[in-house]
Amino acid sequence: MNFLRHHKLDVIGVLETKLVEATLPKIMRTWFAGWKYTCNFHTHPNGRILVLWNPATVILEELDISPQVIHCAITCKVSSVSLLASFIYGYHTVGSKKPLWDNLISFGENCSLPWIAIGDFNNVLNANEKCNGKDVTSHELKHFEECCVLTGLTDLRSMGCHFTWTNNEVWCKLDRAMVNKHWFDQGLDGMANFLPSGCLSGHSPCIVSLLDVIANTNRPFRFFNMLVNMPIGSMPFKYLGIPLAAEKLKAVHYASLVEKIAVYLNGASVWDWTPAKGDSPLLKRIFEIRDIIVSKEGTTELAIANLDRWFAGENSGCSKAYEYFRPRGIPKVWANEVWRHYIPPKHSFILWLGIKGRLQTKDRLHYMDIDQNCALCGTAPETLDHLFFQCNMTNQVWLQIKKWLCITRAMTTIKSALKYMKKKKLVGLLGNHVPRKAQMACTCISYLTARNKRLFEGAVVTSDGITRKIKTHVYKIMFSSYPHVLVQYEHFALGH
Ligand SMILES: [Zn+2]
Repeated sequence: MNFLRHHKLDVIGVLETKLVEATLPKIMRTWFAGWKYTCNFHTHPNGRILVLWNPATVILEELDISPQVIHCAITCKVSSVSLLASFIYGYHTVGSKKPLWDNLISFGENCSLPWIAIGDFNNVLNANEKCNGKDVTSHELKHFEECCVLTGLTDLRSMGCHFTWTNNEVWCKLDRAMVNKHWFDQGLDGMANFLPSGCLSGHSPCIVSLLDVIANTNRPFRFFNMLVNMPIGSMPFKYLGIPLAAEKLKAVHYASLVEKIAVYLNGASVWDWTPAKGDSPLLKRIFEIRDIIVSKEGTTELAIANLDRWFAGENSGCSKAYEYFRPRGIPKVWANEVWRHYIPPKHSFILWLGIKGRLQTKDRLHYMDIDQNCALCGTAPETLDHLFFQCNMTNQVWLQIKKWLCITRAMTTIKSALKYMKKKKLVGLLGNHVPRKAQMACTCISYLTARNKRLFEGAVVTSDGITRKIKTHVYKIMFSSYPHVLVQYEHFALGH
């Protein structure tokens, strides 16, 4: 009640009241003596929309009542301004909201007066009106966008919270105050103020002031739209206008900071401006970054073109900027051959260790008192190159694998083998390059497994056995990537 008194409201829309109609007269007597009300409670059990007004200051006539909207005609007794107002509380799903859009479109068709549609549309109008949570789909936006085009409704000037609803994980702009063309044609001014959510519900209360907003005196009337019975949440915190809780900041989140800087520069070009000694460290840092881009690109024009490129697509700027400044190592030629989406991570990891020379072959375990000879053939010291390329046993495997994959070149190290796989236009196996590319990872892991089995379990391993393992690995990869050629590959992978 303090809230109502403080904001001097003349017309109030309350959404999702969860009240029943029978209790309203008592509530009115207790809290709103002399006020009148209308509601759409008979259309929905939860008491969805309640409109209250003070007949001393406004004349309100209800025009149409439906589950998601109440249309009214309002005349202000003080200023004699007449307008139409629609109090909206949209259902949650795309399909169930369709009647609301249709209703607004048909109402807008015959509307020649200033019209304000205010409330919880339960729908964002732009992908950037949601922070965290699932991405907004074009399907969700379509009907609302169409409705705005057909009715000519646009957002009334607003201040306060951009995101009007939160459950402390996701922030959305669900509530708005929208006006039509006649609103401006008739010279109506006004301002919607979205107060922080959490003072009454998870939604931001929206207060619309008409006419003399700036003078702050003699306000004829306002609307107030609040939602109750939502979980009480805290306001979304921002620093310099940037939401702190957003996991992924998008360029649009910085808009208010950019605006503030623009005001501070007072018309001066960002590209010529030099920060003064007393300017904030943040501002100085921003201009340092500007200078870095200019010096990297050579000229201001190229730097501007670069920024334009980053921000050409929607929401893509931040990641491109991040990539631009991120320090990078020199790309390894083999990286793409090792980290392929179709190679199981375990296989990739073993191959990567092999390339780095980090597999625990016996030559790297010389501090242990163990037989240094190869576990597979027992005739030479076990080094990585021996195990993979020089060992009699694995040589036999290589012969079979090379024949199988039509590889003619001799393999001597993992790196050169990978380089070869990369260079060659590898077709031949049913026109597919995957088996050859995948086989290195499969071969590495199969050699290592065979060697460990022999070493630790004393198992008998044969070159045929290892070959079969490699073929099965490749076959599995092929099956997961190309299930439709399964039959040919089954014969191919398991046959000899
Ligand atoms: Zn050996």
